[in-house]
Amino acid sequence: MRRSVVIGALSASMLLAGCQAVNTTNGGAVGVERKQYMFSMLSTDEVNQMYAQSYQQTLGEASTKGQLDKTSAAAKRVQAIADRLIAQAPQFRPDAAQWKWEVNLIKSDELNANCGPGGKIIFYTGLIDKLKLTDDEIAAVMGHEIAHALREHGREAMSKAYGIQIARQGAGALLGLGEDSLALADTVVQYSLTLPNSRGNENEADLIGLELSARAGYNPNAAITLWNKMAQASGGNSPPEFMSTHPASDSRIASLQAAIPKVMPLYEQAKK
Ligand SMILES: [Zn+2]
Repeated sequence: MRRSVVIGALSASMLLAGCQAVNTTNGGAVGVERKQYMFSMLSTDEVNQMYAQSYQQTLGEASTKGQLDKTSAAAKRVQAIADRLIAQAPQFRPDAAQWKWEVNLIKSDELNANCGPGGKIIFYTGLIDKLKLTDDEIAAVMGHEIAHALREHGREAMSKAYGIQIARQGAGALLGLGEDSLALADTVVQYSLTLPNSRGNENEADLIGLELSARAGYNPNAAITLWNKMAQASGGNSPPEFMSTHPASDSRIASLQAAIPKVMPLYEQAKK
């Protein structure tokens, strides 16, 4: 009772604050249909542009340290897998065909990978080398990350945070932030890449990622071996950075396993 009252009040205040219910993606064969609430003052383009700036900064820093790998066989491998997955992204949202997708490999021991708003992908060599990822497993991580970007989970989390802030402090609370584009860009990065994803968002990214991989001709069963490798690495001294933003749940493998038969025909078709 109390919970539903709070949620009701929150939804009402979010509507007042200019939140719209949207579907960022089509449901696909895996059937991700949840409605999302997005703050209209924070458009997709705006978030994507702000993230693009911080992405360039990350690449610049890596390049200065000699860590940006543009030419090795590993860089070409990651690029080739990305190309096949990106080609399938418009299946979930047609406008993704116009996104300025980028893929970069950074030489670092970090066990990490991400895809920020607007399709900006970074892979770290540590993840591929230490977990000895196969092409199918790289596609599974990358598909999962691309799915977060397609679903705009970062913008959604920011919208939620803004809705709460407005409910508490009134719309004036946002004006200061709006004037300071650097602060806003930091917030985009924070909500897109550094905060842990909710269990629900993780499940959506798992399901859409699974379908992207299958459509691109990568074996969807690799998602299972991938998460087993992640779980195994988490038991060691230095758990993967990836796990701090992608909390594992006991139900993850079961949910993936249940969805694999839905995407298997797409994989079989893509292989032909
Ligand atoms: Zn995730």
